[in-house]
Amino acid sequence: MIVGIDLGTTHSLVACWKDGAPHLIPNALGSVLTPSCISLDQDGTVLVGRAARERLQSHPDRSIAVFKRHMGGNKEFRLGSRSFRPEELSALVLRALKADAEAAMGQAVTEAVISVPAYFSDGQRKATRTAAQLAGLHVERLVNEPTAAALAYGLHQRGSESRFLVFDLGGGTFDVSILELFEGVMEVRATAGDNFLGGEDFSNEIVHWFLQASGLPDKARRDGHFMQHLAARAEALKCTLSTEPQAELAVHWQGRDYTATLSEDHYRRLCEPLLARLRLPLERALRDAGLRAGDVQEVVLAGGATRAPMIRNLVTRMFGRFPSAHFNPDEVVAMGAAVMAGMKARDESLREVVMTDVCPYSLGVEANRDLPSGEKAHGQFIPIIERNTVVPVSRVHGFAPERDGQQVLELRIFQGESRLARDNIEIGKLSVPLEGGPRGDGAVEVRFTYDVNGLLEVEVTRLKTQQVYRLVIRNNDTDLTEQQIEARFQALAELKVHPRDKLENRTLIAEAERIHEFLRGASRERMAAEIGEFEAVLAHQHERSIVSARERLRDAIEYFERAGVFEGGTEPS
Ligand code: ADP
Ligand code: MG
Repeated sequence: MIVGIDLGTTHSLVACWKDGAPHLIPNALGSVLTPSCISLDQDGTVLVGRAARERLQSHPDRSIAVFKRHMGGNKEFRLGSRSFRPEELSALVLRALKADAEAAMGQAVTEAVISVPAYFSDGQRKATRTAAQLAGLHVERLVNEPTAAALAYGLHQRGSESRFLVFDLGGGTFDVSILELFEGVMEVRATAGDNFLGGEDFSNEIVHWFLQASGLPDKARRDGHFMQHLAARAEALKCTLSTEPQAELAVHWQGRDYTATLSEDHYRRLCEPLLARLRLPLERALRDAGLRAGDVQEVVLAGGATRAPMIRNLVTRMFGRFPSAHFNPDEVVAMGAAVMAGMKARDESLREVVMTDVCPYSLGVEANRDLPSGEKAHGQFIPIIERNTVVPVSRVHGFAPERDGQQVLELRIFQGESRLARDNIEIGKLSVPLEGGPRGDGAVEVRFTYDVNGLLEVEVTRLKTQQVYRLVIRNNDTDLTEQQIEARFQALAELKVHPRDKLENRTLIAEAERIHEFLRGASRERMAAEIGEFEAVLAHQHERSIVSARERLRDAIEYFERAGVFEGGTEPS
């Protein structure tokens, strides 16, 4: 059985292909969305998902979120006394999803199709593969998130051709892709995006508004705990405004209540600058694909943040058509990954769709550029494969040494879109030995080949001697070796993971502890007692009393959460 996994920045999901359709698999708490958060309990037990997210506030030094941003990098993250690479944190999420799938299907799951952002570089893709390996999963295929989203929809369009625009606004990133389905081939035509624009920014607008509108003193902004609480409340308010015309935000700070009401209309005005930023990548993707908005047949919304009506309106206005609404936006990528898994398993109800992709960045070398005036501009980036070129692709470009008598020709390879090489990312270097003769003798032809797996090969041919130099780009400084992966696999396997069947109770305690942190005085005492009672009942392992104790603790949580009562406010009766 192959599963499809959306390994998201904010949430992750797992789905499978069964009886001719994709199905989402719920986690131990009954939700199909598992927060991509990890926390280490005091005794070294790993918590994944909602419980870990609750602990971000109460145990910040043992908990972590948004590590997907660091995939492919070298940074390690400390949780308690252990440090983890981003691949390992992702591996823990994958392992939890694998366990959920195994519990649901009653069989071992060892293979997966995993989605990655279309702009993910070679190094980030490799890190994702490593994460899977560390979780005991073999990656059948990495599929681009927009490709997966379009595939979920494309399935219903057998035989016909269609052009999709996938608009994916997640927690922290915005991605636009244009894809074309033609005679069974799904091709990515263009991708664009903004790595620092997502649902989070919309929540921040609400925080800023509230600080002004509620009359909270400036001092409150320096209260880190309070600000985290306010951010969580702002996010909840934002989600309410997706379905209600207005909503109220109420908090309690240092003995006083602060409230303000926000209408959907006012909220949309607050977000105007963000909405304007969404347009840029849309326009760029259309331009790169050589299309106008009217040429798009289907606009697919992905990412939880597209649940906001203002986003749907923007899309409808811009494209003159309503976005597709068959799937929930935060589920559609996982659905598509499951479709891909079905194809990989050669399910006969699925016709194979061939996928092609594009190279997400321009790739080129540093050289001097001859200007029309006859002058030379130094340190320029000369693209050889331009972004959004369909892969596999092979392109050549000629270069010659600067001066007569040069001993070596240094080729520095970059990826990016900036005019100056140094503003792009250097991904490799190749030296061609010359013997110091005249310039023309040192002329070379540089061939860049980018294959379907996203690996770049650089081949340099010295024209005079026909000697060939090769370089396969690998991220030597960040990739783990097979032995290192094996060692880390063992270390991760030895970590204790909180038992799935006890996760609901553990999550409830984490949530209660988060609220306990905010309270003071009698309320705090009350919450501590409630948690203590619940733990005592758990210790007796009497199922019926556990169920009622759980209800009681849940009521207490809800009371304190809703009332936003801090520091000795009223108690639940
Ligand atoms: P990612 O791809 O980053 O894992 P998701 O697709 O899960 O992200 O989207 C998460 C974002 O969607 C968060 O910023 C969240 O606040 C936002 N979101 C979720 N539900 C809603 C809603 N009903 N209205 C507005 N925003 C929402
Ligand atoms: Mg996503």
